[in-house]
Amino acid sequence: MIELIAFDADDTLWENEVLYIKIQEQLADMLADYGSKEEIQKRLFQTEMKNLPLFGYGIKSFGLSLIETAIQASAQRISVEKIAEILEMIRYMLTYNLGVYPGVEETLKQLAPCYPLIIITKGDLLDQDLKVENSGLRQYFKGIEIVAKKEEQTYRNIMKQYHISPDHFLMVGNSLRSDVLPVVALGGIGVYLENAVAWEHEHHIDPSHQDLPYHTIPSLPELIPLIQKLENQS
Ligand SMILES: [Mg+2]
Repeated sequence: MIELIAFDADDTLWENEVLYIKIQEQLADMLADYGSKEEIQKRLFQTEMKNLPLFGYGIKSFGLSLIETAIQASAQRISVEKIAEILEMIRYMLTYNLGVYPGVEETLKQLAPCYPLIIITKGDLLDQDLKVENSGLRQYFKGIEIVAKKEEQTYRNIMKQYHISPDHFLMVGNSLRSDVLPVVALGGIGVYLENAVAWEHEHHIDPSHQDLPYHTIPSLPELIPLIQKLENQS
C-alpha cells in the first residue's frame, strides 16, 4: 500500500528546462564573436559542473556561471554593458511564470483526498518557493521539501521525517538519476516521467543504480491508473 506520494517539480509539474535552453541560446548569441554556439554551450556546462559543489542548483548559481562563461570565453574582454545584460536575463528567469503541464492539476486534485502528497525539489529556497506559489498548486501538497541534492540519504531523511517505510513511498519525476533510482535503491517505488526535456547533468546515472526496476509513464495523468494497478497488486 502506498502511504506517501512525492513529486519532483521542475519538468514534472511545470516546464523549466525550456527557460534554461532559451537563456543558453541568448548567451551563445551574445558571445558569437568568441565561439560557436556549441563551444559556448559546452563551456557553460563545464562551468556549471565545476560550480555545482559550491553554488548548488538554481537560477542564481546558473546566473553566476553565465557571467563566468562570458568572462572566460571572451578572454576577459566582455563589456560591463554585456554583464548588465546577463544580470537582466537572470532577473527575467527569476520572475518568469513557468507553465504547469496539462492534466497536472486534475491529477493532483484526484490524488490529494486519497494520499498525502509532497514535492521534493532541488534548488534555491526562495526561487523554488516562488515557483510553487506561482503554480497555484500549493493547496494540494502536505509538504514542500526543497533539498540541496537528491541522493539516497536525502530520501532516507524525508521518509524518516514523514514516518514512512520505503515500500510505502512512491516518487515520480523526470530524472532517472535524481528522482527515480535513488528511491528504488532504498526499496521504494520509482516512477519515471518520460519527458523529452532533461538537463544534460541528469543523464549521468550512478553505475550502482543501473539495473534497478522502475515504472515509466508518458505523462502525469498516467500516474492514476498506475497507482490503481499497484494497489490492486498489493
Ligand atoms: Mg525535474
